[in-house]
Amino acid sequence: MFCVTCDASKELEDLVAKARPYSQHGKLASYIPALEKANKDDLSVAIYHLDDGTCTYAGDYQEKFTLQSISKVLSLAYVLAHIGEGKVFQKVGMEPTGDPFNSIAKLETSKPSKPLNPMINAGALVVTSLIPGQNTSDKWEKFLQFVQTLSGNTEIGYCKEVQESEFETSNLNRALCYFMRQHGVLEGDVESIMELYTKQCSIEMNCLDLARIGAVFSNNGRDPLSKKELIPEQIARICKTFMVTCGMYNASGEFAMKVGIPAKSGVSGGILGVIPNRCGIGVFSPALDEKGNSLAGWTLLELMNKKYDFSIF
Ligand code: GLN
Repeated sequence: MFCVTCDASKELEDLVAKARPYSQHGKLASYIPALEKANKDDLSVAIYHLDDGTCTYAGDYQEKFTLQSISKVLSLAYVLAHIGEGKVFQKVGMEPTGDPFNSIAKLETSKPSKPLNPMINAGALVVTSLIPGQNTSDKWEKFLQFVQTLSGNTEIGYCKEVQESEFETSNLNRALCYFMRQHGVLEGDVESIMELYTKQCSIEMNCLDLARIGAVFSNNGRDPLSKKELIPEQIARICKTFMVTCGMYNASGEFAMKVGIPAKSGVSGGILGVIPNRCGIGVFSPALDEKGNSLAGWTLLELMNKKYDFSIF
């Protein structure tokens, strides 16, 4: 992680202490067996401030976690930048669903039968199938490089144990792929798409790295230090919009009401937060509520909003 200075924050530490007990009421994700090995008590947060390039953090900030659904924002940004909005939105819609992230229901009832948005599994699988490259490893290496660049950390890789655990058990995601292939929405070899998708979901980092990625989106796609464009501004805007409307699954409305910032969560318990033109936030706490959002992480963001007035609304 690359920033001017990283400092522990006493203020944030107090909020972490208030939010941490909530993790006891949540559950670790178990449908990806390796995720169940996480430590339920963990809670970490980092804020990457755009004004001076500094980072403040609290809690178990060195703890690494896998991105899971947070990676959907990054694959969307990557694919939009490489193949353009036209081709992507021909295959994936722009509407929230109100259904759980892995639901197949709307695929059957919407006409044409394309996923409603790129933040649910069906849509993200289509986006992954559109990652350009000569073969799966070429696609993977280039995408991973993109994520390393966004986080300013060339050491970022993926957790093989979590990737294999998901790859071996992903029957529902395979079903979504085959359903969409039948309807001509998804093309290509399903096993290769599953390999790439489970690898992107298993990309591993800590909250400091995630906050740095949030800072790029906050800074309209530009590297917060060098000011170099990493994501075109219009694409960063599309991603932030999806984060507001669909980023917290079928709790996105409630999150907009209570915290009010573009955010994306993953079943590992990570949350990426973006406060436009102000800062990027990385949060991690693995115990989830019934909709799959980090319970202590969400609580912490609510407390932070009350203290720092984050809401964009
Ligand atoms: N890898 C997970 C899956 O496809 C990601 C889901 C999530 O984080 N909500 O089921």
